[in-house]
Amino acid sequence: MLVREMIKLGESRLTKAHCMDPWLDAELIYYHITGADRVELFLRGREPVDEETQKRYFDLIARREQRIPLQHITGTQEFMGLNFQVNPNVLIPRQDTEILVEEAAKIIRGDNSKTHRRKAWKVLDLCCGSGAIGIALSRICENVKVTASDCSEPALETAKQNAKKNRVKLRFRQGDLYKAVGKRRYDLIASNPPYIRSHMIPILQDEVKLHEPMIALDGGEDGLDFYRRIISQAPDHLEKKGVLILEIGHDQAEDVTRLIRETGAFTKVFVRKDLAGHDRVVYASALY
Ligand code: GLN
Repeated sequence: MLVREMIKLGESRLTKAHCMDPWLDAELIYYHITGADRVELFLRGREPVDEETQKRYFDLIARREQRIPLQHITGTQEFMGLNFQVNPNVLIPRQDTEILVEEAAKIIRGDNSKTHRRKAWKVLDLCCGSGAIGIALSRICENVKVTASDCSEPALETAKQNAKKNRVKLRFRQGDLYKAVGKRRYDLIASNPPYIRSHMIPILQDEVKLHEPMIALDGGEDGLDFYRRIISQAPDHLEKKGVLILEIGHDQAEDVTRLIRETGAFTKVFVRKDLAGHDRVVYASALY
């Protein structure tokens, strides 16, 4: 069998399994097992593949056919140009979340005129999962000291390994939301909490609903359970003029803005859209 033929066969199996990008996945699995890249595939597509490679290739195609996310097969996901180790204990970092990191970095660098400037920033990444937000911020900004917290012990373990892999030092704390950090206050609290409405979980893609951690996705009946708790307690954990920045579902801007306003403890709320044009991030500064 030739390389091209093998990949074509992989693609047709993934198409039948209703994978979203069968051709891309079939190629990426080939790159993963051989270490080849696109150019090499182009140059060697007509060469024969040995039995061993074929076996390894179709073993992974079989896993992908079960709708196991490609990132669980390769064990990694790129986020903000960095590599993150992922596994079923953590949400796979999404490109949408890069908007939150960019916005937070602008605030920290001081190019956001709506927020207060500071020399050094104590940052909390609440519900850190793989650590993507906190680790990316540590890499981008020099003047930050990041604490990453999560209720899940295995998620924190993954985040610790990701910090090491990306050569940054963070503080890690385990516990339910702010319980992880006691009475500590921060200059910026960033969070991508679970926000999917419970009754919407059954309609998520198989990759997500069968293989990603439910505790990272399920935001309760109206999807707002975590926002209620994070927002109402944020004033007790923010320094004066500290910033709360949250990822939200595309239709949650109004509700989350209202929750922030209801505390009476924040300035105007700002909303940012993701690359698809959906509301994705809200932030506001604490008054006191
Ligand atoms: N954006 C994620 C998804 O659609 C959900 C992330 C979350 O709940 N924080 O799968």
